[in-house]
Amino acid sequence: MNRRKFIKNTALTGAGLLLGSALVGCNENATKETESTAVISNDDSKATLPLVIATWHVKEATAKAMEVLQAGGNALDAVEQGCMVEEANEKGQSVGKGGLPDRDGNVTLDACIMDKHGNCGAVVYLQDITHAVSVARKVMEETPHVMLAGEGAKQYAISQGFEAEDLLTEASKEAWEKWKVEAKYKPIINIENHDTIGMLAIDKNGDISGACTTSGLAYKMGGRVGDSPIIGSGLFVDNEVGAAVATGLGEEVVKTVGSFLVVELMRQGKSPQDACEEAIGRIVNKPNSNYKDFQVGYIAVNKKGETGSYSVHQWFSMTKFEDGVNAQIQSDYFNKTENS
Ligand code: ASP
Repeated sequence: MNRRKFIKNTALTGAGLLLGSALVGCNENATKETESTAVISNDDSKATLPLVIATWHVKEATAKAMEVLQAGGNALDAVEQGCMVEEANEKGQSVGKGGLPDRDGNVTLDACIMDKHGNCGAVVYLQDITHAVSVARKVMEETPHVMLAGEGAKQYAISQGFEAEDLLTEASKEAWEKWKVEAKYKPIINIENHDTIGMLAIDKNGDISGACTTSGLAYKMGGRVGDSPIIGSGLFVDNEVGAAVATGLGEEVVKTVGSFLVVELMRQGKSPQDACEEAIGRIVNKPNSNYKDFQVGYIAVNKKGETGSYSVHQWFSMTKFEDGVNAQIQSDYFNKTENS
């Protein structure tokens, strides 16, 4: 089955939400580029530090993070600056400026960040501020809170010197206007090369941090918040064990507290790869799971620098920058029967 057909078949019907564009497939370019790449293996015995991994095909973002790490920067700075690359990229319609809006035409961002001490910060339903991940970091470092939402988050960002700007680019407005003609909750073929950007890094000291940033599902209901800014769901870091980050249908990730689950499984001795596979298993093996209708993907790293990734369906990939090589790695996936 080719990707286009697969996306069509993964329409979510009757649920009242347009979920398709941010859920599945996601990468015409990756499709071409990753056909020749091997499915990820567990053989990370040669892991060297520092290293960075990220969801999807985001080599510029991982390159930025690696630049920070190589210069002696810490993992927290690396993941923030790596995510900022994608937030500023107007062509990426799933993150930061240029993100596809909700059904009312509002671009609303979710992001979080977590450091080696287990400190964390998040923003949800943030509007008009491109670098949601940096606002999340400010929440973590400068406030007594973990999460700020909506107007409060925006006002806080402005008070911290962030500039307000219209995040709806012409291209995203056009896409939304096209969608509005029918405003039906049918999938749109997503030609974007990634969705949520989740990034995990280990610095030269062996310390781990992670970040996650997204505009969420395209044409979502006003006010909808996904997994990405929810600590434990979209992202979790435990510097003793490892870290994990999620992409895909946030509702399914939240219901299984996915990233926390992956880290806990690694704590129990599973490799990052096995932990990601079991976390996807928790989703697809639920009685009455409608997993054929949505995508979820996890990436993970453990304290040794071993990495893993796994998704429900084909076409998920991670970018890994380690030992001078910045490579896109196609993820192994659960639903082999539908996609072959
Ligand atoms: N996880 C994001 C959300 O549910 C979307 C995505 O990764 O595509 O908002």
